[in-house]
Amino acid sequence: MPTLTAITVLSGGHGGAKFVQGLLHGVRSGALPGVSPEAEITVVANTADDIWLHGLKICPDLDTLMYTLGGGLDHERGWGRTHETWSVKEELEAYGVEPTWFGLGDRDIATHLVRTQMLEAGYPLSAVTEALCRRWFDPALGRSVRLLPMTDDRVETHIAVADPEEPSGRRVVHFQEYWVRLHASVPAELVVVVGQEQSTPAPGVIEAITSADLVVLPPSNPVVSVGTILDTPGIRDAVVKTPARVVGVSPIIGGHHVRGMAEQMLASIDVEPSARAVGLHYGARAAGGVLDGWLVDTVDADAVPTLEGAGLRAAAVPLWMRSPEATAEMAAAAVRLVS
Ligand code: GDP
Ligand code: CA
Repeated sequence: MPTLTAITVLSGGHGGAKFVQGLLHGVRSGALPGVSPEAEITVVANTADDIWLHGLKICPDLDTLMYTLGGGLDHERGWGRTHETWSVKEELEAYGVEPTWFGLGDRDIATHLVRTQMLEAGYPLSAVTEALCRRWFDPALGRSVRLLPMTDDRVETHIAVADPEEPSGRRVVHFQEYWVRLHASVPAELVVVVGQEQSTPAPGVIEAITSADLVVLPPSNPVVSVGTILDTPGIRDAVVKTPARVVGVSPIIGGHHVRGMAEQMLASIDVEPSARAVGLHYGARAAGGVLDGWLVDTVDADAVPTLEGAGLRAAAVPLWMRSPEATAEMAAAAVRLVS
């Protein structure tokens, strides 16, 4: 089998970042069959979670990826910086400035300040991201890991929730308000990605997909992470047509998400929260979908025949990302599945 030297991952924040961290560990330690230890990894990140707050551009998924891979993520919280302090947040609250529900840490704010300044000076988000990543990636990872926003355009996911006070019976909130303030505790009736139709992929994204040796859909949210990346005009088509193999890893284990709100998001598009249903939702490339292979957890092994019947290669292996080593084994199984 030829040696794989270029891997592209379409990622959300937490689940995707943990996967990429394990993938990187597996690649560098030579534990991935047929993958060069020097393989380049390109991560295309969801940016539809982005929000402007207090005049600052916040990119939660890009930052989770950047901090995780650069060793600066607070793992206990699962987002934001290590050794964080909250003085600015407290001072904003003392002024009674809304919104108060979004966690803006002091260290994290430095990232948002640099990003916002560069955007206002006219740099596109992709160039800003590259500049920010230099601090985090260059010392440990060099230039062999690249982080690209899915688009440089402003695209923001909004969620419609029931509100009997409104004449329409519905209210639309920004994705961050749904997740952070409402804790995804009410059903998401509709997911609307504002600005998506007019958006174009950021420089390098299409090429990263079409020139890769392997494309991976990590265990990220299938609707508001991977879904929004695929729905950026041109990206799904590139995944369908790439000569690379495309393999995905289920974020659903035993009928539940591990963390986050994939269950609520899947309900909004009438997809059952199961590893089987998510695999079928992505679909086999042979049948107009985006996948060649789909990994499910061992507890979901009974889904394998159905998935195979739909034209996918499928296998059941442990999918809990307990450590970079365990995640590297998952990544190895994913590579093996489509080799
Ligand atoms: P977000 O942008 O921070 O919400 O992160 P992602 O979209 O990248 O990932 C969220 C998904 O990661 C959720 O649907 C979780 O079920 C999934 N996830 C988190 N931890 C694990 C794990 O250990 N194993 C698997 N298979 N999925 C996980
Ligand atoms: Ca996200």
